[in-house]
Amino acid sequence: MRKQYRYPTELIYDSYWQGSPDKHTANGRVIRFSVKNTDHQNCAICGRNDFEVGFNTYESTPGAAKLGSVISNNFGEQFSFTEPHSPVTCPYCEAVVRPQFKDLNGIVANPSLVSLIVGKGKEDDSQPRIKRILTGDFYKLMLEPPEPPFIFAFNKHGVGKNGTHFIYLAPVNYDRDRYVISYYDEKIMVDRQFLDEVWVRIVKKDPANNVMSTGALLSGLRGKRIEEIITKRNQERTQNATGAAKNKATKAFAKGKSQKVFEGSEFSSDPDFLTRALLQDNFRTLGLFFMSIASQNANSKKTEEAA
Ligand SMILES: [Zn+2]
Repeated sequence: MRKQYRYPTELIYDSYWQGSPDKHTANGRVIRFSVKNTDHQNCAICGRNDFEVGFNTYESTPGAAKLGSVISNNFGEQFSFTEPHSPVTCPYCEAVVRPQFKDLNGIVANPSLVSLIVGKGKEDDSQPRIKRILTGDFYKLMLEPPEPPFIFAFNKHGVGKNGTHFIYLAPVNYDRDRYVISYYDEKIMVDRQFLDEVWVRIVKKDPANNVMSTGALLSGLRGKRIEEIITKRNQERTQNATGAAKNKATKAFAKGKSQKVFEGSEFSSDPDFLTRALLQDNFRTLGLFFMSIASQNANSKKTEEAA
């Protein structure tokens, strides 16, 4: 039977580090030293207490270099820990609270394959088990997530700089059809069937244009009374209304342009599809999905121009 994971840090410990993490060093010196956890205190970060040997959460080990603690003095996110007061951190969390993960845009991993989502210019040093992918690539993993158990996690800003530690916040997924993407401390439930539908009905037809216009359209429709828009539109159709009635329907949109995009979209003939697209989790799923596709479009455009 395959191993069950409750903690994302243990999954990365087993996959990225293959159960045997490098010692944490700075300038070539080992700076984190293990401490005994014989009284089984809880890990500050994940809360587990089933480990015999851990690391100091906040205090440097006596005699060790200054940076010997897992958490540095200027880390301000302890509120997100399970047991923030605990002086000890488990070896699994220690192995992922490291600089090389802090700089990532995101990570998608199961026990046998790790995809590190990185910025441009960092994508070259892939190994068979550890791949580096760009923002423009992760939408493929949204459509085809790894075999469970897996995590799908983004750093604080998803793209760009100023990241922080984020892997410990990712839920471990056991279902490829309904899974959670963590976006730092937020959770987005992905409905893969809905995503497939968007892929077929919207993206595949004209990725460059449809992703941009659909994203803008949905953002414009957020907060509006969707039922009202749909009802008015249906009235308009059945009664073949002109004048005032028609104006009312048009006014439900911010601008005439949105109206036109809406009329030409898959949503105009399928109110249910629109309603589903505007559900919070689906809407946020599309935000990430479209961001990745738009990034890929921008990259391939640049490549074409350069050729
Ligand atoms: Zn832990």
